[in-house]
Amino acid sequence: KPSLTIIGGGLAGCEAAWQAACRKCRVTLIDMKPHTFSPAHNSEALAELVCSNSFRSNDLHSAVGLLKEEMRRCNSLIMTAAEKTAVPAGKALAVDREQFAGKITEEMEKHPLIEIIREEVTRMPEESSSVTILATGPLTSEPLAQSLAELTGRERLSFYDAIAPIVYAESLDMNIVYCKSRYDDGPGDYLNCPMDRESYLQFIEELANGKYVPLKQFEEAKYFEGCLPVEIILSRGVDTLRYGPMKPVGLEDPKTGKIPYAVVQLRKENREGTTYNMVGFQTKLTYREQKRIFRMIPGMEQAEFARYGSIHRNTFICAPELLEPTLQFKKRPDLLLAGQLSGVEGYIESAAMGMLAGINGARLSTGQSPVVPPPETALGALISHLTMSEAEKFQPSNVNFGLFPPWKKKVPKKLRPKLRAQAGLAELELWMQKENI
Ligand code: FAD
Repeated sequence: KPSLTIIGGGLAGCEAAWQAACRKCRVTLIDMKPHTFSPAHNSEALAELVCSNSFRSNDLHSAVGLLKEEMRRCNSLIMTAAEKTAVPAGKALAVDREQFAGKITEEMEKHPLIEIIREEVTRMPEESSSVTILATGPLTSEPLAQSLAELTGRERLSFYDAIAPIVYAESLDMNIVYCKSRYDDGPGDYLNCPMDRESYLQFIEELANGKYVPLKQFEEAKYFEGCLPVEIILSRGVDTLRYGPMKPVGLEDPKTGKIPYAVVQLRKENREGTTYNMVGFQTKLTYREQKRIFRMIPGMEQAEFARYGSIHRNTFICAPELLEPTLQFKKRPDLLLAGQLSGVEGYIESAAMGMLAGINGARLSTGQSPVVPPPETALGALISHLTMSEAEKFQPSNVNFGLFPPWKKKVPKKLRPKLRAQAGLAELELWMQKENI
Protein backbone atom coordinates (compact mmCIF):
# COMPACT_ATOMS: atom_id res chain seq x y z
CA LYS A 1 0.00 0.00 0.00
CA PRO A 2 1.18 3.60 -0.60
CA SER A 3 2.16 5.28 2.65
CA LEU A 4 3.03 8.65 4.10
CA THR A 5 4.15 10.17 7.37
CA ILE A 6 2.53 13.12 9.10
CA ILE A 7 4.37 14.94 11.88
CA GLY A 8 1.98 16.76 14.24
CA GLY A 9 -1.48 15.51 15.25
CA GLY A 10 -3.20 18.87 15.62
CA LEU A 11 -6.04 20.20 13.51
CA ALA A 12 -4.04 20.15 10.28
CA GLY A 13 -2.27 16.84 10.91
CA CYS A 14 -5.47 14.93 11.78
CA GLU A 15 -7.35 16.34 8.79
CA ALA A 16 -4.41 15.43 6.52
CA ALA A 17 -4.30 11.90 7.97
CA TRP A 18 -8.04 11.47 7.42
CA GLN A 19 -7.90 12.67 3.81
CA ALA A 20 -4.92 10.45 2.99
CA ALA A 21 -6.41 7.39 4.69
CA CYS A 22 -9.72 7.94 2.83
CA ARG A 23 -7.61 7.68 -0.34
CA LYS A 24 -6.32 4.31 0.77
CA CYS A 25 -2.93 5.52 1.93
CA ARG A 26 -1.31 4.02 4.98
CA VAL A 27 -0.57 6.89 7.40
CA THR A 28 1.92 7.13 10.25
CA LEU A 29 0.82 10.08 12.42
CA ILE A 30 3.41 11.25 14.94
CA ASP A 31 2.64 13.59 17.85
CA MET A 32 4.85 14.40 20.82
CA LYS A 33 1.97 14.50 23.35
CA PRO A 34 1.74 13.34 26.13
CA HIS A 35 5.54 12.95 26.53
CA THR A 36 6.15 16.55 25.61
CA PHE A 37 3.61 19.37 25.61
CA SER A 38 3.94 22.73 23.89
CA PRO A 39 3.43 25.66 26.31
CA ALA A 40 -0.23 25.94 25.18
CA HIS A 41 -1.28 22.28 24.90
CA ASN A 42 -2.57 20.40 27.99
CA SER A 43 -4.60 17.44 26.86
CA GLU A 44 -3.48 14.02 25.65
CA ALA A 45 -6.06 14.16 22.88
CA LEU A 46 -5.16 14.97 19.30
CA ALA A 47 -6.67 18.06 17.58
CA GLU A 48 -6.67 20.04 20.80
CA LEU A 49 -8.11 23.56 20.64
CA VAL A 50 -5.57 25.63 22.54
CA CYS A 51 -7.71 28.71 23.14
CA SER A 52 -11.21 29.66 22.04
CA ASN A 53 -13.77 26.93 21.25
CA SER A 54 -15.12 28.86 18.26
CA PHE A 55 -14.58 28.15 14.57
CA ARG A 56 -16.05 31.58 13.79
CA SER A 57 -18.95 32.33 11.47
CA ASN A 58 -21.00 29.59 9.88
CA ASP A 59 -22.65 32.07 7.52
CA LEU A 60 -21.99 30.99 3.94
CA HIS A 61 -21.78 34.64 2.95
CA SER A 62 -18.64 35.19 5.02
CA ALA A 63 -15.22 34.05 3.81
CA VAL A 64 -14.75 31.68 6.74
CA GLY A 65 -18.30 30.32 6.31
CA LEU A 66 -17.55 29.62 2.66
CA LEU A 67 -14.30 27.89 3.61
CA LYS A 68 -16.26 25.64 5.98
CA GLU A 69 -18.77 24.72 3.28
CA GLU A 70 -15.94 23.88 0.87
CA MET A 71 -14.41 21.65 3.52
CA ARG A 72 -17.73 19.91 4.15
CA ARG A 73 -17.99 19.15 0.45
CA CYS A 74 -14.47 17.69 0.52
CA ASN A 75 -15.47 15.31 3.32
CA SER A 76 -13.52 17.11 6.06
CA LEU A 77 -13.24 15.23 9.34
CA ILE A 78 -12.73 18.46 11.30
CA MET A 79 -16.04 19.78 9.97
CA THR A 80 -17.94 16.55 10.68
CA ALA A 81 -16.55 16.35 14.20
CA ALA A 82 -17.26 20.06 14.81
CA GLU A 83 -20.88 19.64 13.76
CA LYS A 84 -21.34 16.53 15.89
CA THR A 85 -19.97 18.29 18.97
CA ALA A 86 -21.37 21.80 18.34
CA VAL A 87 -22.68 23.97 21.17
CA PRO A 88 -25.14 26.86 20.57
CA ALA A 89 -23.26 30.00 19.50
CA GLY A 90 -25.59 32.08 17.30
CA LYS A 91 -24.20 32.42 13.79
CA ALA A 92 -20.85 30.96 14.81
CA LEU A 93 -19.83 27.31 14.90
CA ALA A 94 -18.51 26.56 18.37
CA VAL A 95 -17.77 23.16 19.87
CA ASP A 96 -17.44 21.35 23.15
CA ARG A 97 -13.65 21.20 23.02
CA GLU A 98 -13.24 17.92 24.91
CA GLN A 99 -15.85 16.10 22.89
CA PHE A 100 -14.44 17.53 19.68
CA ALA A 101 -10.85 16.46 20.36
CA GLY A 102 -12.14 13.13 21.74
CA LYS A 103 -14.11 12.44 18.55
CA ILE A 104 -11.13 13.17 16.28
CA THR A 105 -8.77 11.11 18.43
CA GLU A 106 -11.21 8.21 18.31
CA GLU A 107 -11.46 8.43 14.49
CA MET A 108 -7.67 8.45 14.21
CA GLU A 109 -7.26 5.53 16.61
CA LYS A 110 -9.88 3.31 15.04
CA HIS A 111 -8.97 3.87 11.38
CA PRO A 112 -7.32 0.68 10.10
CA LEU A 113 -4.90 2.65 7.87
CA ILE A 114 -3.71 5.11 10.53
CA GLU A 115 -0.99 4.27 13.01
CA ILE A 116 -0.34 6.80 15.78
CA ILE A 117 3.11 7.16 17.30
CA ARG A 118 3.53 9.31 20.38
CA GLU A 119 7.04 10.76 20.27
CA GLU A 120 8.79 14.03 19.59
CA VAL A 121 10.43 14.39 16.19
CA THR A 122 13.60 16.40 16.60
CA ARG A 123 14.94 16.53 13.05
CA MET A 124 13.44 17.09 9.64
CA PRO A 125 13.35 13.82 7.69
CA GLU A 126 15.99 13.33 4.99
CA GLU A 127 14.85 13.59 1.39
CA SER A 128 13.32 10.33 0.26
CA SER A 129 10.85 8.76 -2.12
CA SER A 130 8.12 8.60 0.55
CA VAL A 131 6.03 11.66 1.34
CA THR A 132 6.06 13.56 4.67
CA ILE A 133 3.63 16.24 5.78
CA LEU A 134 4.88 18.63 8.44
CA ALA A 135 2.02 19.97 10.60
CA THR A 136 3.60 20.78 13.95
CA GLY A 137 1.84 24.13 14.28
CA PRO A 138 2.66 27.55 15.69
CA LEU A 139 4.41 26.05 18.73
CA THR A 140 6.57 23.50 16.93
CA SER A 141 9.05 22.12 19.47
CA GLU A 142 12.43 23.83 19.60
CA PRO A 143 14.74 21.10 18.17
CA LEU A 144 12.48 20.50 15.18
CA ALA A 145 12.08 24.24 14.58
CA GLN A 146 15.88 24.58 14.54
CA SER A 147 16.15 21.74 12.05
CA LEU A 148 13.44 23.34 9.91
CA ALA A 149 15.33 26.65 10.05
CA GLU A 150 18.36 24.86 8.58
CA LEU A 151 16.21 23.70 5.70
CA THR A 152 14.47 27.01 5.03
CA GLY A 153 17.33 29.35 5.92
CA ARG A 154 17.00 31.13 9.27
CA GLU A 155 15.60 34.35 7.88
CA ARG A 156 12.70 32.47 6.28
CA LEU A 157 11.37 30.98 9.52
CA SER A 158 9.64 33.34 11.97
CA PHE A 159 8.84 32.76 15.62
CA TYR A 160 6.48 35.69 16.15
CA ASP A 161 3.93 37.37 14.02
CA ALA A 162 3.26 41.05 14.32
CA ILE A 163 0.18 41.72 12.30
CA ALA A 164 -1.13 45.18 11.47
CA PRO A 165 -4.83 45.59 10.69
CA ILE A 166 -6.02 45.53 7.09
CA VAL A 167 -8.91 47.69 5.89
CA TYR A 168 -11.05 47.57 2.76
CA ALA A 169 -10.19 50.48 0.45
CA GLU A 170 -13.82 51.19 -0.37
CA SER A 171 -14.65 51.79 3.29
CA LEU A 172 -12.22 54.76 3.50
CA ASP A 173 -13.38 58.36 3.13
CA MET A 174 -11.40 59.52 0.10
CA ASN A 175 -12.45 63.13 0.72
CA ILE A 176 -10.08 63.06 3.68
CA VAL A 177 -7.55 60.36 2.81
CA TYR A 178 -4.99 61.26 0.16
CA CYS A 179 -2.55 59.39 -1.97
CA LYS A 180 1.18 60.16 -1.54
CA SER A 181 4.32 58.24 -0.83
CA ARG A 182 6.95 59.78 1.39
CA TYR A 183 9.81 59.57 -1.06
CA ASP A 184 7.69 59.61 -4.20
CA ASP A 185 8.51 55.95 -4.73
CA GLY A 186 5.67 53.89 -6.10
CA PRO A 187 2.93 56.51 -6.57
CA GLY A 188 -0.43 55.24 -5.45
CA ASP A 189 1.02 52.61 -3.17
CA TYR A 190 0.35 54.64 -0.02
CA LEU A 191 -2.73 56.39 1.31
CA ASN A 192 -2.50 58.88 4.18
CA CYS A 193 -4.92 59.80 6.94
CA PRO A 194 -3.96 63.28 8.18
CA MET A 195 -4.27 64.34 11.82
CA ASP A 196 -4.14 67.75 13.43
CA ARG A 197 -2.67 68.18 16.91
CA GLU A 198 -6.00 67.85 18.67
CA SER A 199 -7.05 64.65 16.92
CA TYR A 200 -3.57 63.18 17.46
CA LEU A 201 -3.70 63.85 21.20
CA GLN A 202 -7.19 62.41 21.51
CA PHE A 203 -6.17 59.36 19.53
CA ILE A 204 -3.08 58.56 21.59
CA GLU A 205 -5.05 59.09 24.80
CA GLU A 206 -7.53 56.38 23.73
CA LEU A 207 -4.72 54.15 22.49
CA ALA A 208 -2.88 54.39 25.80
CA ASN A 209 -6.02 53.53 27.77
CA GLY A 210 -7.47 50.88 25.45
CA LYS A 211 -8.12 47.26 26.42
CA TYR A 212 -5.34 44.88 25.47
CA VAL A 213 -5.09 41.11 25.15
CA PRO A 214 -2.75 39.99 27.92
CA LEU A 215 0.42 38.13 26.94
CA LYS A 216 0.36 34.39 27.58
CA GLN A 217 2.80 33.21 30.21
CA PHE A 218 5.14 31.74 27.62
CA GLU A 219 4.94 34.77 25.40
CA GLU A 220 7.65 36.81 27.09
CA ALA A 221 7.56 40.13 25.28
CA LYS A 222 10.53 39.63 22.99
CA TYR A 223 9.68 42.16 20.32
CA PHE A 224 11.96 43.16 17.49
CA GLU A 225 12.75 46.88 17.45
CA GLY A 226 11.67 47.12 13.82
CA CYS A 227 8.31 45.56 14.55
CA LEU A 228 7.23 46.96 17.92
CA PRO A 229 3.56 47.06 18.86
CA VAL A 230 2.18 50.55 18.37
CA GLU A 231 1.25 50.75 22.08
CA ILE A 232 4.85 50.01 23.12
CA ILE A 233 6.14 52.82 20.91
CA LEU A 234 3.53 55.13 22.44
CA SER A 235 4.53 54.12 25.98
CA ARG A 236 7.95 55.69 25.33
CA GLY A 237 6.55 59.22 25.04
CA VAL A 238 3.82 61.47 23.67
CA ASP A 239 5.69 62.22 20.45
CA THR A 240 7.33 58.86 19.73
CA LEU A 241 4.61 57.84 17.29
CA ARG A 242 4.96 61.16 15.44
CA TYR A 243 8.63 60.38 15.00
CA GLY A 244 7.91 56.74 14.19
CA PRO A 245 5.12 55.15 12.14
CA MET A 246 2.99 58.33 12.23
CA LYS A 247 5.79 60.58 10.93
CA PRO A 248 4.28 63.22 8.61
CA VAL A 249 7.58 64.29 6.92
CA GLY A 250 7.25 64.44 3.13
CA LEU A 251 3.51 63.83 3.26
CA GLU A 252 1.95 67.21 2.66
CA ASP A 253 -1.79 67.09 2.07
CA PRO A 254 -2.44 68.12 -1.57
CA LYS A 255 -5.72 69.77 -0.53
CA THR A 256 -4.08 72.19 1.91
CA GLY A 257 -0.45 72.07 0.76
CA LYS A 258 0.45 71.66 4.45
CA ILE A 259 2.21 68.90 6.31
CA PRO A 260 -0.22 67.42 8.88
CA TYR A 261 0.71 67.12 12.57
CA ALA A 262 0.76 63.32 12.23
CA VAL A 263 -0.24 60.79 9.60
CA VAL A 264 -1.48 57.21 9.58
CA GLN A 265 -0.14 55.58 6.44
CA LEU A 266 -1.95 52.80 4.63
CA ARG A 267 0.01 50.58 2.27
CA LYS A 268 -1.54 48.66 -0.61
CA GLU A 269 -1.97 45.09 0.55
CA ASN A 270 -2.88 43.41 -2.72
CA ARG A 271 -2.09 44.12 -6.34
CA GLU A 272 -5.61 45.31 -7.05
CA GLY A 273 -5.59 47.88 -4.25
CA THR A 274 -8.83 46.62 -2.69
CA THR A 275 -7.25 46.29 0.75
CA TYR A 276 -4.72 48.41 2.66
CA ASN A 277 -2.45 47.63 5.59
CA MET A 278 -2.10 50.15 8.46
CA VAL A 279 1.66 50.69 8.38
CA GLY A 280 3.30 50.06 11.75
CA PHE A 281 0.03 49.40 13.61
CA GLN A 282 0.76 45.89 14.85
CA THR A 283 -1.01 45.74 18.19
CA LYS A 284 -2.36 43.66 21.04
CA LEU A 285 -5.49 45.81 21.40
CA THR A 286 -8.61 43.64 21.51
CA TYR A 287 -10.49 43.45 18.19
CA ARG A 288 -13.38 45.50 19.56
CA GLU A 289 -11.01 48.23 20.72
CA GLN A 290 -9.20 48.27 17.38
CA LYS A 291 -12.50 48.96 15.66
CA ARG A 292 -13.41 51.70 18.12
CA ILE A 293 -10.03 53.44 18.37
CA PHE A 294 -8.87 53.12 14.75
CA ARG A 295 -12.20 54.52 13.58
CA MET A 296 -11.13 57.77 15.31
CA ILE A 297 -8.52 58.21 12.58
CA PRO A 298 -9.66 60.86 10.06
CA GLY A 299 -10.87 59.11 6.90
CA MET A 300 -11.34 55.81 8.72
CA GLU A 301 -14.60 56.64 10.53
CA GLN A 302 -16.46 53.91 8.62
CA ALA A 303 -13.47 51.61 8.09
CA GLU A 304 -14.26 47.94 7.59
CA PHE A 305 -11.51 45.60 8.67
CA ALA A 306 -10.51 42.61 6.52
CA ARG A 307 -8.25 41.53 9.38
CA TYR A 308 -7.47 42.91 12.81
CA GLY A 309 -3.97 43.35 14.16
CA SER A 310 -2.35 40.87 16.53
CA ILE A 311 0.96 39.79 17.93
CA HIS A 312 1.69 36.34 19.16
CA ARG A 313 4.20 33.62 19.27
CA ASN A 314 3.86 31.79 15.99
CA THR A 315 6.25 29.64 14.02
CA PHE A 316 5.68 30.04 10.29
CA ILE A 317 7.68 29.94 7.12
CA CYS A 318 8.02 32.55 4.40
CA ALA A 319 5.60 30.67 2.15
CA PRO A 320 5.87 32.90 -0.95
CA GLU A 321 9.55 31.99 -1.22
CA LEU A 322 9.39 28.39 -0.12
CA LEU A 323 6.08 26.79 -1.07
CA GLU A 324 4.47 25.57 -4.27
CA PRO A 325 0.70 26.13 -4.52
CA THR A 326 0.40 22.38 -3.94
CA LEU A 327 1.91 22.95 -0.43
CA GLN A 328 5.09 21.10 -1.46
CA PHE A 329 8.43 22.64 -0.56
CA LYS A 330 9.97 24.06 -3.72
CA LYS A 331 13.27 22.36 -3.02
CA ARG A 332 11.84 19.22 -1.42
CA PRO A 333 8.87 17.88 -3.43
CA ASP A 334 8.61 14.94 -1.01
CA LEU A 335 7.83 17.35 1.85
CA LEU A 336 4.51 19.19 2.28
CA LEU A 337 3.63 21.80 4.86
CA ALA A 338 0.22 22.09 6.49
CA GLY A 339 -1.53 24.12 9.15
CA GLN A 340 -0.47 27.32 10.80
CA LEU A 341 3.19 26.61 10.01
CA SER A 342 2.44 27.13 6.31
CA GLY A 343 1.47 30.78 6.93
CA VAL A 344 -2.29 30.74 7.48
CA GLU A 345 -3.96 31.89 10.68
CA GLY A 346 -6.83 30.24 12.55
CA TYR A 347 -8.23 26.83 13.42
CA ILE A 348 -10.30 26.37 10.26
CA GLU A 349 -7.62 27.76 7.94
CA SER A 350 -5.04 25.43 9.52
CA ALA A 351 -7.35 22.45 9.09
CA ALA A 352 -8.06 23.51 5.49
CA MET A 353 -4.36 23.48 4.67
CA GLY A 354 -4.17 20.06 6.33
CA MET A 355 -6.97 18.89 4.06
CA LEU A 356 -5.14 19.99 0.91
CA ALA A 357 -1.83 18.58 2.11
CA GLY A 358 -3.55 15.25 2.86
CA ILE A 359 -5.16 15.14 -0.59
CA ASN A 360 -1.88 16.02 -2.31
CA GLY A 361 0.23 13.77 -0.08
CA ALA A 362 -1.99 10.83 -1.04
CA ARG A 363 -1.86 11.73 -4.71
CA LEU A 364 1.92 12.00 -4.70
CA SER A 365 2.21 8.66 -2.89
CA THR A 366 0.10 6.98 -5.56
CA GLY A 367 1.96 8.54 -8.48
CA GLN A 368 -0.76 11.08 -9.33
CA SER A 369 -0.01 14.75 -9.82
CA PRO A 370 -0.93 17.11 -6.96
CA VAL A 371 -3.79 19.61 -7.31
CA VAL A 372 -4.30 23.34 -6.70
CA PRO A 373 -7.80 24.68 -5.87
CA PRO A 374 -9.20 27.49 -8.07
CA PRO A 375 -8.52 31.03 -6.80
CA GLU A 376 -12.25 31.81 -6.64
CA THR A 377 -12.67 29.29 -3.81
CA ALA A 378 -11.80 30.15 -0.21
CA LEU A 379 -9.26 27.30 -0.32
CA GLY A 380 -7.68 28.80 -3.42
CA ALA A 381 -7.71 32.32 -1.92
CA LEU A 382 -5.61 31.04 1.00
CA ILE A 383 -3.20 29.37 -1.43
CA SER A 384 -2.94 32.67 -3.35
CA HIS A 385 -2.05 34.40 -0.08
CA LEU A 386 0.66 31.84 0.65
CA THR A 387 2.22 31.84 -2.78
CA MET A 388 1.52 35.24 -4.38
CA SER A 389 2.12 37.66 -1.46
CA GLU A 390 5.24 39.78 -1.40
CA ALA A 391 7.86 37.70 0.38
CA GLU A 392 9.50 40.54 2.38
CA LYS A 393 6.23 41.62 3.99
CA PHE A 394 4.69 38.19 4.36
CA GLN A 395 2.56 37.68 7.49
CA PRO A 396 0.04 34.91 8.18
CA SER A 397 -3.58 35.65 7.36
CA ASN A 398 -6.95 34.21 8.11
CA VAL A 399 -9.33 33.84 5.20
CA ASN A 400 -11.10 37.04 4.09
CA PHE A 401 -12.65 38.30 0.87
CA GLY A 402 -9.67 40.61 0.33
CA LEU A 403 -7.66 37.52 -0.69
CA PHE A 404 -10.07 36.64 -3.53
CA PRO A 405 -9.54 37.70 -7.16
CA PRO A 406 -10.73 41.24 -7.99
CA TRP A 407 -14.16 41.68 -9.52
CA LYS A 408 -14.10 41.78 -13.30
CA LYS A 409 -17.04 44.21 -13.39
CA LYS A 410 -18.70 46.56 -10.89
CA VAL A 411 -20.85 44.66 -8.39
CA PRO A 412 -22.98 46.39 -5.72
CA LYS A 413 -21.45 45.93 -2.28
CA LYS A 414 -24.53 44.21 -0.85
CA LEU A 415 -24.48 41.44 -3.44
CA ARG A 416 -20.79 40.64 -3.19
CA PRO A 417 -20.70 38.08 -0.35
CA LYS A 418 -23.50 36.07 -1.98
CA LEU A 419 -21.82 36.15 -5.40
CA ARG A 420 -18.47 35.19 -3.88
CA ALA A 421 -20.10 32.18 -2.23
CA GLN A 422 -21.93 31.14 -5.41
CA ALA A 423 -18.82 31.48 -7.59
CA GLY A 424 -16.63 29.74 -5.02
CA LEU A 425 -18.90 26.72 -4.70
CA ALA A 426 -19.50 26.46 -8.45
CA GLU A 427 -15.73 26.49 -9.08
CA LEU A 428 -15.17 24.00 -6.28
CA GLU A 429 -17.65 21.53 -7.76
CA LEU A 430 -16.06 21.79 -11.23
CA TRP A 431 -12.62 21.31 -9.72
CA MET A 432 -13.68 18.33 -7.62
CA GLN A 433 -15.17 16.63 -10.69
CA LYS A 434 -12.21 17.40 -12.93
CA GLU A 435 -9.60 16.28 -10.42
CA ASN A 436 -11.64 13.46 -8.95
CA ILE A 437 -11.37 14.86 -5.40
P1 FAD B 1 -1.64 22.51 16.30
O1 FAD B 1 -3.11 22.37 16.42
O2 FAD B 1 -0.91 23.29 17.35
O3 FAD B 1 -1.02 21.05 16.21
C1 FAD B 1 0.35 20.82 16.20
C2 FAD B 1 0.61 19.47 16.85
O4 FAD B 1 1.99 19.15 16.61
C3 FAD B 1 0.41 19.47 18.35
O5 FAD B 1 -0.45 18.42 18.71
C4 FAD B 1 1.81 19.28 18.92
O6 FAD B 1 1.82 18.46 20.08
C5 FAD B 1 2.55 18.58 17.78
N1 FAD B 1 4.00 18.83 17.74
C6 FAD B 1 4.66 20.02 17.85
N2 FAD B 1 6.00 19.81 17.69
C7 FAD B 1 6.17 18.47 17.51
C8 FAD B 1 7.29 17.65 17.30
N3 FAD B 1 8.54 18.15 17.26
N4 FAD B 1 7.13 16.31 17.14
C9 FAD B 1 5.87 15.76 17.18
N5 FAD B 1 4.76 16.52 17.38
C10 FAD B 1 4.90 17.85 17.53
N6 FAD B 1 -6.78 30.08 16.19
C11 FAD B 1 -8.13 30.29 16.24
O7 FAD B 1 -8.82 30.18 15.22
N7 FAD B 1 -8.72 30.64 17.41
C12 FAD B 1 -8.02 30.75 18.58
O8 FAD B 1 -8.60 31.06 19.61
C13 FAD B 1 -6.61 30.52 18.55
N8 FAD B 1 -5.89 30.65 19.69
C14 FAD B 1 -4.55 30.38 19.65
C15 FAD B 1 -3.83 30.47 20.86
C16 FAD B 1 -2.47 30.19 20.89
C17 FAD B 1 -1.71 30.26 22.18
C18 FAD B 1 -1.81 29.86 19.67
C19 FAD B 1 -0.34 29.55 19.67
C20 FAD B 1 -2.52 29.79 18.48
C21 FAD B 1 -3.88 30.04 18.44
N9 FAD B 1 -4.64 29.97 17.27
C22 FAD B 1 -6.01 30.19 17.31
C23 FAD B 1 -3.98 29.76 15.98
C24 FAD B 1 -4.13 28.37 15.33
O9 FAD B 1 -5.36 28.32 14.69
C25 FAD B 1 -4.01 27.18 16.24
O10 FAD B 1 -2.76 27.20 16.80
C26 FAD B 1 -4.23 25.84 15.50
O11 FAD B 1 -4.32 24.83 16.46
C27 FAD B 1 -3.15 25.51 14.49
O12 FAD B 1 -3.35 24.22 13.96
P2 FAD B 1 -2.11 23.28 13.57
O13 FAD B 1 -2.66 21.97 13.21
O14 FAD B 1 -1.29 24.01 12.58
O15 FAD B 1 -1.24 23.17 14.89
